Amino acid sequence: MSTYLDKVRALGCFNCWEPGPSQAHHHTARRGLSQRAKDEDSMPLCHTCHHDFHAACGAFKTWGKAQRRAFQDAGVEWTRGKLTGASSAEGHLRGPDGGDAA
Ligand SMILES: [Zn+2]
Ligand SMILES: [Zn+2]
Repeated sequence: MSTYLDKVRALGCFNCWEPGPSQAHHHTARRGLSQRAKDEDSMPLCHTCHHDFHAACGAFKTWGKAQRRAFQDAGVEWTRGKLTGASSAEGHLRGPDGGDAA
């Protein structure tokens, strides 16, 4: 059984769309009391983009704090929609007990 993070890693990079497997990046601005973001606050980044994002180099070199946050907000939302959204051909990603009918 694969976890949410496993599914995140299976996606392509949210920045450059390099096909997966990617690395799971946790939103750096959504840390709660545990000082670590939840798995649902993660997004896929390829090795290069993940490294560059944390090192603030490469494609992210000129990014300010607000832009970095907006990028992560968008990435987390996109990932959630991908993995938990109802409208998708990737129905196999949903568990058999997805009792979330509105
Ligand atoms: Zn990338
Ligand atoms: Zn990261």
